[in-house]
Formats: sequence, structure tokens, C-alpha cells
Amino acid sequence: MAQLVINDLKKEYPTRGEPLEILKGMDLELSAGDNLAVIGPSGSGKSTLLNILGTLDYPTGGTYTLNAVDPFDLDDDQLASFRNANIGFIFQEHHLLPQLSVLENVLIPTMANGKPSQNDVARAESLIERVGLAERSHHRPAELSGGERERVAVARSLICGPSLLLADEPTGNLDRKNAQQIGELLLEIQQAEAMVLVVVTHSNELANMLGQRLEINDGRLTTPGA
Ligand code: ADP
Ligand code: MG
Repeated sequence: MAQLVINDLKKEYPTRGEPLEILKGMDLELSAGDNLAVIGPSGSGKSTLLNILGTLDYPTGGTYTLNAVDPFDLDDDQLASFRNANIGFIFQEHHLLPQLSVLENVLIPTMANGKPSQNDVARAESLIERVGLAERSHHRPAELSGGERERVAVARSLICGPSLLLADEPTGNLDRKNAQQIGELLLEIQQAEAMVLVVVTHSNELANMLGQRLEINDGRLTTPGA
């Protein structure tokens, strides 16, 4: 059964005149273990789509179900815990807290319910090791390179064991070598955990690493070259 299903998904923003239609009816089905690149020029609606898939924003038409739940049927508290339990995010601007260590940054999502447990700390440590930063656990973000900071963001996105991992231009600020390494790391972890991975990018190199590729064209998802 598909884990993520969108049907005729639409998003428009109100303006003084005609509403601005950004997503004009998108359909998509993804199952555990699928990974998808969504490409498209700046302003085409990539982040808008990703934010809706991440339940950070809501659609103005169509339906979305994740793990058989319609997140937009939930009240605010239910939605916050659903999101925390099911969805991991990696942004281009990694939003690490500068005053916290690598370990503390990775633990932030677990603090929604109070102090991190022993288990949380153990999982954080193993994720930090997995992204190659075991020696840097007690460093602050300012002491890390851009590629290393992005690795911290990857570890943080995985701390609650999401079934859907969303990445918005995850390599946008990185040089080629670091971009390639982050791409490989994301795929390796996604395959090992059989998550759904959706990566929004305008990097062809990153898109080429992923199993499927769709393009946003005038508010719709199309197959490139088709
Ligand atoms: P991308 O990530 O592909 O660069 P976005 O999804 O960020 O594109 O934005 C798509 C379009 O939607 C842009 O034209 C942007 O100006 C517009 N947009 C995004 N958020 C809002 C908003 N809150 N109100 C009005 N327009 C918006
Ligand atoms: Mg964007």
C-alpha cells in the first residue's frame, strides 16, 4: 500500500486580485523505500509542495494522506505529534542552534515531550556516528564546516525515526564533493530504513542519484523529457 498519496493537490495564495495558483492539481503515490527528486526552476512551487507534504502548510484543494492518515483532519496538537513521529526535515538553511552542541542539536526534536531519554541520547549518538561526526559531538555549529553542519541536520531529521524524509535543496550551499557525499548519505540511510525520501533540488547531479525524478511545470508534476 502506498504510504504517501496526493490527489489533485492544489495551493493558491490570495492576492488583491485573482488568487495566485502555485500548485494546480498534483497526483503522486510513493511507497516505503521510494525516493524521488522534484526539480523545477526557482519560484515553481518546490518548497510549497514540500511544506505541504511536511504538514507545515496546508493545501487549498485536493487530498493528502500519509500512512493512511489525513493530517489536515487532525487538530493542532494531534498534528504536531503526528508530524514529529512521522516526518523528518532537512532544509538548506539547516537551522542549527548556535549555542547548542552537535549532540544537543540532534536531540532537539525529542524535547517536544520533555527531557530526552537515555534511549534518545543513545540513538542521537549512533546517528552522529553514522553521519561521520562522532569526534565532533560536543562541538558547536560554528566550529564545523558547511558539509558537517548539513550532516548534523541529517542526523537531527532522523532522530524520531520518520517514515517520510523531506529535503529542501539539501546541497544548495555545498561544494560538489560535499554535495555528492550528502546525497550518498541520504540515500544510504533512506534505503536502510525503508523510508520515503522526497528531495527538492535544482541540482541535476543530486537529482540523478535518486530513483525517480519529476519536474514542476506550470503548477503540475510532469516526467522530464516526456
Ligand atoms: P521554489 O521553492 O520552487 O523556489 P516556492 O514554493 O518557494 O518556490 O514559491 C512558489 C511561488 O509561490 C513563488 O512565486 C512565491 O512567490 C509564491 N509564494 C510562496 N509563499 C507565498 C505566500 N505566503 N504568499 C504569496 N505567495 C507565496
Ligand atoms: Mg524553494
